[in-house]
Order: sequence, then structure tokens, then C-alpha cells
Amino acid sequence: MAKFPPEFYNVMNKRIALKTIGCKLNFAETSTISREFTSRGFDIVDFNSKADVYIINTCTVTANADKDCRKAVHQANRNNPNAFVAMVGCFSQLKPEEANSLEGVSAVLGNDEKYNVFEYYQDFTNNIDEFEYHSHIDELDEFHYSYSAKERTRTFLKVQDGCDYECTYCTIPLARGKSRSDNVANTMQQAREIAKTSTREIVLTGVNTGDFGKGTNESFFDLIKELDKLKDIDRIRISSIEPNLLTAEMIDFIAESRLFVPHFHIPLQSGSNRVLKDMRRRYRRELFAERVDKIKAVMPDCCIGVDVIVGFPTETEKDFQETYDFLNSLDISYLHVFSYSSRDNTKALDFKNIVSHPQRKERSKILHELSDSKQKTFYNKFIGQKRKVLFESYVDGKIQGHTDNYIKVISSGNKELKNTIVTVKLIENNKSFTVGQI
Ligand code: SF4
Repeated sequence: MAKFPPEFYNVMNKRIALKTIGCKLNFAETSTISREFTSRGFDIVDFNSKADVYIINTCTVTANADKDCRKAVHQANRNNPNAFVAMVGCFSQLKPEEANSLEGVSAVLGNDEKYNVFEYYQDFTNNIDEFEYHSHIDELDEFHYSYSAKERTRTFLKVQDGCDYECTYCTIPLARGKSRSDNVANTMQQAREIAKTSTREIVLTGVNTGDFGKGTNESFFDLIKELDKLKDIDRIRISSIEPNLLTAEMIDFIAESRLFVPHFHIPLQSGSNRVLKDMRRRYRRELFAERVDKIKAVMPDCCIGVDVIVGFPTETEKDFQETYDFLNSLDISYLHVFSYSSRDNTKALDFKNIVSHPQRKERSKILHELSDSKQKTFYNKFIGQKRKVLFESYVDGKIQGHTDNYIKVISSGNKELKNTIVTVKLIENNKSFTVGQI
């Protein structure tokens, strides 16, 4: 289909509102889509206000995410019943009929088509024929660069998409297709573009970030080594990496690196080897513990965040206790706790011993408490010490930011400090943040 040049669009004063549901990857992609609209003369307005076009970049990772997508459609219709409302992304990819049937939805575009809105729609009126475009999963083989540009200080750069793993609870490979990425040289080009902006920190994101280079003779480690030479950027963070892909040589390199910060986010999902096997994860808990030990041996100040799922269908009380004890024994800094949510077309649906919803809730609560106590211990370790903080926002006379090792810091200070790196003394642990003295 022909691509229409920007001049084609008579969009003077057309307002567009965008909403992201789900992960950082979606966030980066929404930002890229929004730049397409502004380059064609659209004005971006808040999602809560009246717009002519609403784009909802959807997610379907849990039942709650589905609910949020439906809510966003209602919200857009409430704000302007005559608007053009497009549902794009993972929900649209996996449930196009359902998306199409929602009242007030004008367009349904899957994960590839969402970058081509302008190929399908030119005037963005909502009285189009009953017609939907959505990618078939086999066609999801292109890699589209995206990076967020809303915040001044930190940019999320997508370096990888899709996943070839087959974790039994996960629907992402169905929604995002095979693992794919560009080569190191082109990815560096994107990073250099970001470095020309006022951004101080780049966060590398992907569905399975460590799988960068799959099918080529390059690897994620090759990318890390090149990125470490980047100029005009102060920090690079890896959003998340599978434990089996985080190698000892990568950890050693990051410990000595110029730009990579001492912060890892590693999905564990369960501390029971039996449950890990049922989940079809590609490691045992022993490997996870080894990775944590290795990181702490070379970077004692490193922040380590861990993803964990409670209530997987075969998780018994004993398995849960094993997970708790295992997490408790590790020198980690915080947890992201997810309650298992059954997803269509996943293998986990075949397991019979389902954990009840109250049990899932109870287990989630217990791990949230463990996370609080881990964070408290981690923050306490740095009270009285000086660390470099990148200040990101200024609210009510206070300036807020994060240390390299991801401690949230709030200080008295002026707004000129925003987007600068300042040495700060951490003087008090206030549970969800520390108080800093500049
Ligand atoms: S690694 Fe597993 S959980 Fe992560 S996206 Fe791939 S299949 Fe899903």
C-alpha cells in the first residue's frame, strides 16, 4: 500500500491522545508512534481531554491488563464520542475480534501494523467501514526501532522484540512473534541519535533483551561493549535480563564499565525447581543464586530486582515456602510480585491443580512484605554515604531522582537541578525513598 507523504494530511488543529498499557517496550513504541503524528502536524493532548484521534497501545499480559484496555476505550469514547479510536498492539494482535467488537473502536492494528497507521487511514474519521487490519503472527518478523522521548532525563531504547522461549504461562511470544533485533552497528546509530538529545540515561529494553543478536553472529555482550563507548550519555541501564543469558563475563565487564550502572533486574519466577520445570524456565534456582553471588562479589553495591510469580497452577504451599526461603536467602534489593493469571492458548492451562484466588492474594501479600524488608535493608546500607544522583523531576519544592544503583532520592533543591548529576549524601531511609542532602 502506498505511503502518503506528510503534506497529504490536512490535519491542522487535529488533536491526538495516546495511552500506553503494559511494559516499557510499549511505552517506547507509543512514543515513536506519537512522533509520527506530530511530524504530520497533529497536536498531542492529554488522554483525559477531548481529542480527534485516540491511540491505545494495548497489553494482554494479565486479565487486569485486558480490563485496563477496555477501560481506556470507554474513557476515549466518553471524552469524545465522535473520535477515531484505534486499539493497537498486543491485545489487538491476540484478540482482534474482541477488540473490533468493543463499542466505539474505529481501528484494530496488531504489533506490526501499529507503525503503519498512516498507510491505512488518511482522514481519521470514525465512520469507516467495518474493516480491521491485524498482523498474522507469522508475519511478525520485522524489527521496528522505538525509543521514548517524553522524559528529558531517561530514554527507553528498544533493542530487541519477540521471544523464542516457551514459558508455559506466557502469551507474549504469541503477541510479539519470534525473537528479533537489528545489528550492533544500526543499534549504535539509534543510541547516538538519543545521545544528541538532552537525555542523560538510556535504558535498554526488549521482550527478552539478552537474546539480542539471535540468529546472527553478534550477541548482547557485543552490544554492551560497543554501547560502553558511547559519548554524551552518562548512564546505561539494562531493564531486565534472563538469568541464563546474563553471563559471568558480562557481569565482570559491567563491574568495570564506564557507563553501565550497578543495577540488574532478573526474572526468577519461582524458587522451586519443580515449578520452574512446569513453567519451562531455562534454569534451575542454583544458577540464579550463582548469578546473584557473582554480581555481589564484583559489585557489592549493586541493586538487584527480581520478578516472581505467585499462584502458578502447580505451586503447592511447600513450593511457595521454598520460594520464600530462597528469596529470603539471596542478597537482593526488591521484588516485583505478579499473581498468576491464566491466559488463552498457553500450556499452563493444562495443569489441573489450580491455586485459589484468595491463596494467590495471600502469597502475593507475603512476598510484598518480603520485598519491603529487602528494600529497607538495601537502602539502610547506604545511609550516611554519598552517591551520585541523576535528578529527574521537581515536585512541590523537592527534587527527585535515582542513584546509579537505583535508590530513589528526594532532596530539597531547586528545579535547575533537573537533568543533572549531583553528589548527594543519603541521610534517612523513608521506606519508599531516601532523603538526600545535596
Ligand atoms: S522468556 Fe518466557 S516469560 Fe519472558 S517473554 Fe519469553 S516466554 Fe514470556
